[in-house]
Amino acid sequence: SDSAEISPKDIDQLSRTSFPLCMRHMLEKLRENHHLKNGGRMQFGLFLKGAGLKLEDALAFFRAEFSQKVGSERFDKEYAYSIRHNYGKEGKRTDYTPYSCQKIIAATPGVGDHHGCPYRHFGEENLRAALNNMGISGNALEGILDKVKNRHYQLACTLTFEATHNVSCDTGINHPNQYFSESQKVLQA
Ligand code: SF4
Repeated sequence: SDSAEISPKDIDQLSRTSFPLCMRHMLEKLRENHHLKNGGRMQFGLFLKGAGLKLEDALAFFRAEFSQKVGSERFDKEYAYSIRHNYGKEGKRTDYTPYSCQKIIAATPGVGDHHGCPYRHFGEENLRAALNNMGISGNALEGILDKVKNRHYQLACTLTFEATHNVSCDTGINHPNQYFSESQKVLQA
């Protein structure tokens, strides 16, 4: 349920089993670059919040990565704000809602950005490689790429969910946090 909590030490494992490709990709880039630009911090940070990561844990999680690149002092000065902001602790104190697929698909990531929807924003080669990394090949892979060619990105994501969980997902995927919670339901059943 939405009240479940996740902890920073579980994030890598949860990414492998239950994150949609957009969020797997951002975790991978965060681990690789020890940095995410603002669009990524918002899309990924709000997703983690929605998945049950508490503010203090989110700060610790992002600080552990960013401090390897910019140092913890600079993290606290320049970046902690944007994490707290996701939780409504800064600025207008809005409690920001995790982004839907529709919003993520409509994003326009620039050079060096890793947010957005891979089905929409990756080139075919990268998408094939990413799906291969999730263990998808053959007809299942071609079926997903076919949906992408027809610009049915959420259907492509739904087929990915079905291929990696061995279930049918009749409601379809419309939100990364829905993908996550449906996945947890399947795995905990
Ligand atoms: Fe993420 Fe939605 Fe795109 Fe799937 S369809 S990768 S959940 S934005």
